[in-house]
Amino acid sequence: MKYNSVKEEQGSRHSGRTITDLKIMMVDDEPTTIGMVKAYLEDFGYRRFVQVEDPARSLQFMEESNPDIILLDLIMPDVSGFDILLEVRKHPKFNRLPIIILTSSIKPEDKLRALDLGATDFLAKPVDPSELCLRVRNTLVAKEYSDHLTFYDTLTGLPNRHMFLDRCEWALNKAKRYGEQLAVMNIALDNFDRVNATFGTRTADKVLCQIADRIRGAIRNVDILGHGTQEYEAGMNLFRIEGSSFSLLLERIHGEESAAIVAERIIREIRKPLQADGKDIYVKASIGIATYPTESDDVELLLTLASSAMDYIKNKGGDSFQFSTSTINELYSNRRSIETMLRKAIEKDEFILQFQPKVDVGTNVIKGVETLLRWRPDDNKFIPPDVFIPVAEETGLITPIGEWILNKAISQLEEWNETETAPIGMSINLSARQFQNKEFFSIVKRIVDGSSVDPRLLTLEITESLLMEDVDHAIKTLKQFRELGLILAIDDFGTGYSSFNYLSELPVDELKIDRSFIVNLSRDSKNVKIFSTIIYLARNLGLTTVAEGVETEAQLQHLREIRCDQYQGFLFSQPLTDIELYKLLPRKT
Ligand code: C2E
Ligand code: CA
Ligand code: CA
Repeated sequence: MKYNSVKEEQGSRHSGRTITDLKIMMVDDEPTTIGMVKAYLEDFGYRRFVQVEDPARSLQFMEESNPDIILLDLIMPDVSGFDILLEVRKHPKFNRLPIIILTSSIKPEDKLRALDLGATDFLAKPVDPSELCLRVRNTLVAKEYSDHLTFYDTLTGLPNRHMFLDRCEWALNKAKRYGEQLAVMNIALDNFDRVNATFGTRTADKVLCQIADRIRGAIRNVDILGHGTQEYEAGMNLFRIEGSSFSLLLERIHGEESAAIVAERIIREIRKPLQADGKDIYVKASIGIATYPTESDDVELLLTLASSAMDYIKNKGGDSFQFSTSTINELYSNRRSIETMLRKAIEKDEFILQFQPKVDVGTNVIKGVETLLRWRPDDNKFIPPDVFIPVAEETGLITPIGEWILNKAISQLEEWNETETAPIGMSINLSARQFQNKEFFSIVKRIVDGSSVDPRLLTLEITESLLMEDVDHAIKTLKQFRELGLILAIDDFGTGYSSFNYLSELPVDELKIDRSFIVNLSRDSKNVKIFSTIIYLARNLGLTTVAEGVETEAQLQHLREIRCDQYQGFLFSQPLTDIELYKLLPRKT
């Protein structure tokens, strides 16, 4: 009989494996049967076998060798094929592994029982060579297809996070058994967000595929690694974890230097300019590395360590690699646990808004309130915004959180408007990432348009440094907001560039002077001079001035003298809940 060429690629196209590269485990107490079956399969092109003559050790062999299929004899002394089937189907990792039963038993009830226990297929001994090979092939093709859907990333064709965890576990066990060293690398592209934002997702996807190819290329012919073994040739050790981050598993390394050499090579490859859709694009990468046995013998911990090291080097400017240390890990694991909790915070309803009054310096009447975000995960523990907002920014979670804040703040204002209180303004803090987000303007517009609130009562607070990153873009965006009727404020003025030159060019209405100036107000006369100059210049530009963090009567007195417009601070009130604040609001006259 003639069957299709087995050299033809089937199933796992992307990993570059053919069906005959897959590993077949044979469990049979008769060596002659094993020998014969193996010979048939070898004729067909298969070449990776695991032979188990002692059925009691089947599971151990499976864990060690990670087969793709099992050919299992049913009737054996001591441990039967049924027992093994039962065990395998309970095993968390192998419960879906294809098992073909080879047996001389022709009893229909045996056949039914085996199928009931989860056998994939059934072959009667003595086996017909062609039938054996075709059934094995078809079963493997089906397995490869379903594996592909579960374990591979469709964009790059690389194995995904699932597969990575699986492989790490397996590789680490092997390294422990044979006294080998291994390294886990976390590769993240620096500023890939920007590639996405500037060139669009379609081009960004092409860039990602090229990067994946470059990393593959960089590790393909590294002779210090794995000595050209099959896994390395097949690129099976590179994984796409999510978005723009990859992981690399380096087995059998000769010390940490090997890992460093590989990392260096990858960074160099990625740094080279690349072209997508006719554009020149520059990408850089940060790599974190954790090694066994130096750092840890635990998979989870190795991954955390590599990821902390990556965060560390990325925050230091990226385009480089970093080995993990416990110090770095401490620094970043806290951050990551915040990230994990933050992801669920909105749906778990853990945010609330507080409001701090903005008060008229002359009359002490509340002119408006600033919304300040509060987060209480698991009820009692309170995490300050200075800690979680940077994490929300880095992870992009600020987009949904920012939208939540806008909605909440505006509906709060609507609620107050329906009462006997006089209309007040509401200031909302924006973070850099929100402001840079192309969709942000339309999000704000939609929420404002959908509410009954007069846009002139809404102020957006933006920090100077944020505006200075891209002044032209900032001016354009600010103008859009102004056309919508919103008021714009510069927050924390004086901590960044503090230049009046550019301030006159920005379409803003309000200047909030940073607390650090107010603290020093009563200390020496030089500060009073600086402060009054700021107020004077701001007034000339037509800006409303607001002093932040006023805590003492003496500070307020200074503000009166230099005719600052408004102030905020503990002197008048701490940030308050909506109910507390409502009591302070001026009533309609
Ligand atoms: P910020 O915008 O400068 O807010 C003023 C901070 O000063 C608030 O801290 C407020 O509680 C505190 N404060 C007010 N009066 C006094 C005072 O008299 N003395 C002292 N020592 N502090 C005073 P908070 O609420 O911890 O917020 C810290 C920062 O977190 C804010 O600085 C802002 O940058 C950010 N943030 C807070 N809420 C949000 C938000 O909803 N969105 C965004 N993007 N950032 C927010
Ligand atoms: Ca603010
Ligand atoms: Ca401020």
